[in-house]
Amino acid sequence: MRKEKKLKRKTADDYWTNRALKREREAYLTGQKLSKKLLEFYENASNEVRKKINDFYHRYASENGLTFYEAVRELNKSEYREWKKSLDEYVGEYETKADPVRAAELKAKVDARAYQSRITRLEAVGTQIEGAVNKLYFGALTVMNEDFSKVFEKSFIRKAEDLAEHFDIDMGFTQKYFNEKMVEDVISYPWCGNHFSDRLWKNKENLIFNLRDILSRGLQSGTSLPQMAKEMADKTGQSFKAAYNLVESETTHFHEEANFRAYEAAGIERYQFWSEHELTVCGTCAALDMKVFNVKDRKEGVNAPPMHNHCRCITVEYDPYEKEDYIASGLEPPEDRETWKEWYDGEVARRGKDAVENEIKAHKNKASDEKQFEKYKSILGNKNMPKNLDEFQKLKYNKVDEWEDIKKFYEYKNENPNSNKKFYYINKKIDILRNNGEIKIKGTAVKPDKSVKINNYNEHTLMRMQERNITKKDIQNIKNNSIIAFKQRNGNQYAYYSEKGFVVIDINGTVGSVGWADENAKKFISEVLKDG
Ligand SMILES: [Zn+2]
Ligand SMILES: [Zn+2]
Repeated sequence: MRKEKKLKRKTADDYWTNRALKREREAYLTGQKLSKKLLEFYENASNEVRKKINDFYHRYASENGLTFYEAVRELNKSEYREWKKSLDEYVGEYETKADPVRAAELKAKVDARAYQSRITRLEAVGTQIEGAVNKLYFGALTVMNEDFSKVFEKSFIRKAEDLAEHFDIDMGFTQKYFNEKMVEDVISYPWCGNHFSDRLWKNKENLIFNLRDILSRGLQSGTSLPQMAKEMADKTGQSFKAAYNLVESETTHFHEEANFRAYEAAGIERYQFWSEHELTVCGTCAALDMKVFNVKDRKEGVNAPPMHNHCRCITVEYDPYEKEDYIASGLEPPEDRETWKEWYDGEVARRGKDAVENEIKAHKNKASDEKQFEKYKSILGNKNMPKNLDEFQKLKYNKVDEWEDIKKFYEYKNENPNSNKKFYYINKKIDILRNNGEIKIKGTAVKPDKSVKINNYNEHTLMRMQERNITKKDIQNIKNNSIIAFKQRNGNQYAYYSEKGFVVIDINGTVGSVGWADENAKKFISEVLKDG
């Protein structure tokens, strides 16, 4: 016989379901704080590497920079002593409890290298880079061990309390389960094949390889110091991003591990999968929302969170008698939580299918849109672009006409880098007039480049000059006072229009045609430029 629960009336905040969400949030925030601590380690390592490279460079560079030849010369006696001392300092930093096996290995490796009789300047600075990044590893691992233990402990205790209250059972059940050994076992267990220390180690080995690679290749190809520093900072940033992802999924893992240990301790047999009710949730997680599984069948990544990096899904205890208990206690049972699909349908009904789907698209395409945003910004300039990626995506997915316009402007500006937005719109206007048969001038309207040089005049032009009484000075004046130009023959020639006349000049500076403006041309110019 199952024991009936006595349920008391509660406010919405007290419902155990809301608590489960709150607990996840708490664990998540601990993870975020941990990431901030890691960022500091990465920043320190990055600064130290930059400093070492700077010293190295300025010490051995001549006025033309540092040659590879200079970089691979051997250290002299005093340099050697100095270098050896710096290594000892690093090794001192490895003496943590975090990973004694690897610390001992590194120490042996450093000792062996210090006994080599010949060492080049480049090798010496390379080992210092290694030292700085290894220091980062041991520091980061120490805080990860501490904070993951905290996440697990806290989540377990809180969940146990919540379960005790929810199922009206005594908290005593936790005691025989929870002890330091259990925390240690959970933290040291390689739940996804690799332990987090292995993944962090691999991450930092990659970073060392990349930094050394940038330095030696940079020296061989004569890359400038600031450029190398930038490349190194970028690599360190990528390395931190990987560590950040690691912290996120490990945090979710330890939080859920705590939940499952508490389910087992309290004798809960089934759990329910809850995905976030957000448009950013992936299809796999959304499809699992509100599904019920046996606690003993839990498989992380298959039917339990974390399903993948950045997964914010949770589990809650499932009680098939929940409703009956509410009714037996004379209370209105709380409404069932919607599935993701029901929630999604509600969003569609409220905001319209397009708005909802566009938001999903924006989320999916974030990475590629960011690249596009940067590319457009570099061509169009900040003032012609939405102020951030968010605004850019809003425009791209919601404002069809504006997006078309910005794409066309991008194409235009790409082909006519010296023109501007004003002439882009003038060109658009001219296209319409041309299609209506109102004007006949060929080519793309652009901002005139008045600096273009005139070198000579072809025969046709010389004839025209005589016929129409146009001097070379007149031609110069038309060009210098031109208010619009037309790019013709794939950019091989430009026709310049001033209020007085027009002149066609090719890329060799040869004038191909010239004429005075007639009434029509004058009218056209004032018309087109009126409010362009
Ligand atoms: Zn997912
Ligand atoms: Zn998920």
